[in-house]
Amino acid sequence: MPYVVAQPCINCKHTDCVEVCPVDCFYEGPNFLVIHPDECIDCNACVPVCPVEAIYADDELPEQWEHYAEWNTYLAEQWQALGYNITEKKDALPEAEEYAAEPLLSQKSEEDILTWEGAE
Ligand code: SF4
Ligand code: SF4
Repeated sequence: MPYVVAQPCINCKHTDCVEVCPVDCFYEGPNFLVIHPDECIDCNACVPVCPVEAIYADDELPEQWEHYAEWNTYLAEQWQALGYNITEKKDALPEAEEYAAEPLLSQKSEEDILTWEGAE
């Protein structure tokens, strides 16, 4: 039952989650973070520190975000292979605050998730 990062994380990168994870299982894309399902130990430490409530146990994902379990697996494997394990907190993206409120908050979708593949 790994934990999953969902839509509210897009364009955020507050990365408070990374700081508390005891097993360093977060992977970073250009504007989104994911959890590697094979590494997460289900400790729940990251959930209360995420300022936008983006993290859920996979069996508690809101229905509209259920597909993020698959997205976390897919992207974590891709970003792991590219060496983008993130283990230390960094500054949030400049647009993070704007995207944490309406109208941009509800306009986020997985189509907005950028990936490093082809970007390097
Ligand atoms: S704290 Fe939440 S929104 Fe910020 S990077 Fe981590 S999962 Fe994403
Ligand atoms: S639940 Fe625990 S192990 Fe899993 S990502 Fe969050 S902090 Fe890391």
